Amino acid sequence: MTPGEQLAAFLRNVAQTSDSPLGLVVERASGCTIHAAGGREYLDLLAGIGVCALGHGNARVLEAIRVQAEKHLHVMVYGELVQEAQAALARKLASVLPATLDNVYFTNSGTEAVEGALKLARKATGRTWLVSCSGGFHGDTMGSVSVGGNPVYRTPFEPLVGDVAQIDFNDFDGLAVIDERHAAVIVEPVQAEAGVILPKPGWLAALRARCSEHGVLLIFDEVLTGFGRTGSLFAFEREGVVPDVLVLAKALGGGLPLGAFIASRSVMRTLSHDPPLAHVTTFGGHPLSCAAGLASLEVMLEEKLADRAARLGEWFTDRLRQRLRSPAVREIRHAGLLIGIEFDAASRAAAFTQACRSEGLLLGWTLHDDRVVRLAPPLVIHEAELDDASLRMERALSRTAAG
Ligand code: PLP
Repeated sequence: MTPGEQLAAFLRNVAQTSDSPLGLVVERASGCTIHAAGGREYLDLLAGIGVCALGHGNARVLEAIRVQAEKHLHVMVYGELVQEAQAALARKLASVLPATLDNVYFTNSGTEAVEGALKLARKATGRTWLVSCSGGFHGDTMGSVSVGGNPVYRTPFEPLVGDVAQIDFNDFDGLAVIDERHAAVIVEPVQAEAGVILPKPGWLAALRARCSEHGVLLIFDEVLTGFGRTGSLFAFEREGVVPDVLVLAKALGGGLPLGAFIASRSVMRTLSHDPPLAHVTTFGGHPLSCAAGLASLEVMLEEKLADRAARLGEWFTDRLRQRLRSPAVREIRHAGLLIGIEFDAASRAAAFTQACRSEGLLLGWTLHDDRVVRLAPPLVIHEAELDDASLRMERALSRTAAG
């Protein structure tokens, strides 16, 4: 197909998620660059919204996929046959997590992992009420939408899953709402779609204490913040607060679709009886995805990419603060290499994003605060690439702020 034919089919035959898709025709991607039709190259500062932590085309991940493909693809619905790729990744995850997070349920995606975690919490506690946080984002299936923190994305789909209470992220007083009625609290330890909002010091610890006091399971959604993104392997390590259930996806699969919710064996056991097979999936934990995920995690650990994200995040945001000095830029926030640039108006953020694209940079908005431009580059990105990106962003801003 020619690029023109691809674009026409994309617009006509592929379901659209907005009236203004980026619509770049991708030819290939390597390292931190996306090569589009017409010879255009884009420095990828989004990494597929946090998926491609190792950039594009990592040799170890590609080799692991090839070896697994030659061994076997899908053989049986999840949970029946022993598949080395699943067992090895689960064991590796358990080895890098606290002892209470040693039992992994693999899914296909982040939102499915959230659904599994919510079902697990209700069944394990015998309670129905769930607590979510203002600004939170957990995916787009019904349960995940129900615990979403922005009414704009909930209202069109009501009635949703019932018995959900909401507290304000970072509100210490609001924690008093949590009590024996509640099965679980679900929260992102750093809120990404809300506009890269960091927890106030001590808030997650206070939330943990309140949950423990009332027998409520604490679910951390680390779909986006997992695997080094915020400067530690998992964002919960930043605060030293361990959840009862950890939800992962995005970078977990090394570029292939994979999610997981992880808990202790005793909590997870609740899903395997009364009745058995009450929570199953055909493709969850696909062997190709698990093989890619294991190779990706090994590279992350060997190359200490979490430390790299912490170091580069500090350095790069300093640079951005120097180069993006303008009354239009309200604040630049970051946790590792998850960066939010807050503008004074949504229109300015959109114009900046557009101008950056003309400069050959791919970056984007956040779903719940369209004044905030988000960056989540591959964790392997070079300093020189980031330095060059900051210069291009400076040029883009001068055009935007003048406009
Ligand atoms: N949770 C968080 C924090 C996310 O950022 C996302 C997706 O962006 C999800 C859940 C849903 O993941 P998926 O798109 O794989 O269903």
